[in-house]
Amino acid sequence: MTMPAAHTHATPETGGRPIPDAATRETIGYAPVHTVADLDAAIAAARDAQPAWNALGHAERSRILHAIADDIEANSEELAQLLSREQGKPLDGPNARFEVGACAVWTRNAADTVLEPEVVFEDGPARAEVHYDALGVVGAIGPWNWPMMITVWQIAPSLRMGNTVVVKPSEYTPLSVMALVDVFNRHLPSGVLTAISGDREVGAAIAAHRGLDKIMFTGSTATGRKIVESSAHNLARLTLELGGNDPGIVLPDTDVKAIAENLFWGCFINTGQTCAALKRLYVHESVYDEVVDTLAEMARTMPMGRGLDEGNVLGPLQNEKQFEIVRDLVDDARARGARIVTGGEAAADLGPLFYRATVVADIDDGARLVDEEQFGPAIPVVKYRDIDDAVRRANASEQGLGASVWSNDPDEAAAVATRVQAGTVWINTHGGLNPAVPFGGTKQSGYGQEFGVAGLKAVAAPKVISR
Ligand code: NAD
Repeated sequence: MTMPAAHTHATPETGGRPIPDAATRETIGYAPVHTVADLDAAIAAARDAQPAWNALGHAERSRILHAIADDIEANSEELAQLLSREQGKPLDGPNARFEVGACAVWTRNAADTVLEPEVVFEDGPARAEVHYDALGVVGAIGPWNWPMMITVWQIAPSLRMGNTVVVKPSEYTPLSVMALVDVFNRHLPSGVLTAISGDREVGAAIAAHRGLDKIMFTGSTATGRKIVESSAHNLARLTLELGGNDPGIVLPDTDVKAIAENLFWGCFINTGQTCAALKRLYVHESVYDEVVDTLAEMARTMPMGRGLDEGNVLGPLQNEKQFEIVRDLVDDARARGARIVTGGEAAADLGPLFYRATVVADIDDGARLVDEEQFGPAIPVVKYRDIDDAVRRANASEQGLGASVWSNDPDEAAAVATRVQAGTVWINTHGGLNPAVPFGGTKQSGYGQEFGVAGLKAVAAPKVISR
């Protein structure tokens, strides 16, 4: 059973939902409005297709994934333009072209990573091995900030391990994900990968569906909790990549010029709409003013505007809800007496959802901009005197996705990193990902790891063969 063509390419006549350009708000296309019945059909098709897909074996699935990666590259400019319009991120900088490039890189990595059976016990003739089988059908639910790349993180390892997949993109960015799924489907047998474009109700139906064996979820902590509750119905295995409120700690006497570029992009990558971006910065008093002034100067001068206009590197907030969150948190900081060094207001001249890159100083823990995830272009910079105090404050959050430590001495930074509670602690950079290195959160930022060998294990059923 496959989805009728009208379901993947909607028009107003077929009941499609208009999707706006994030920058201009003009309609750029129509997303199908799938129902729970469509979801049932997609999962039934995925179940039917799974045994044959699994029987193809690793070598053939890897070959197909390589062909898909080549095809993503061959269509990269078209994909990047759609992504730029729908999501808002500019083509240039670490944005749309970069994201499409990462889709090819992560697809190839899923194809090439080797997960051999592991011998875990041997004693004379006695021997126990762990083998990794396919789980069955994987449900992939994604967010709107890096929609294509995160979808690839979820689906490429799942396919490699012999699972079939049903993807539900965010209701804010369905077109980008469906265009990507179309590229995959030029190479995959029917039923192996289906995109279902639906709202939160369809998301909730996937999470509780008895036909699924695993949910790969990336999104907010609040939705993550609901997915855990839903998984009581199907006992689906879960990988939960949830929200973050990543701290950065700048150690005393750090050379600010040397770290400025990485520090800026750590905060403002994808206009701050990144799970593992720097969201609160603790800076030693010896370099506080210099860090604040340097970040503010960069924030003032980085080109912001419509994504398709070459040269822009910052874009709009993707949606009105997120725009309101950012505006509200910055207004709250101002009302508490924090210093808005630059920004702190909408950039209405650029379009309805643009907010100027904002640096907020003379702010402390307890302010909502520090304690809550802003997920936008506004960084609070907190002054500290004592490193133990900075570590304590960094760890005071319920979130534990990423963190970073900045210093002239990477060994000293590494020693501080061992004390910070996070899934990843970067040194003199923040948010850089490598497809071979496991990525995931601690505390309320979720559980399970993606990428590399750990990522393949996360979408596999371990089976012990013991003799
Ligand atoms: P969200 O939780 O609102 O939505 C994510 C997805 O879940 C959407 O597809 C949505 O339709 C679906 N959904 C909503 N309700 C559901 C339910 N009850 N059951 C199942 N699915 C449901 O998140 P968002 O606003 O799209 O994304 C922003 C958040 O995602 C931020 O908190 C960010 O930090 C986090 N994020 C985390 C990572 C990571 O790797 N850890 C990556 C990107 C984003």
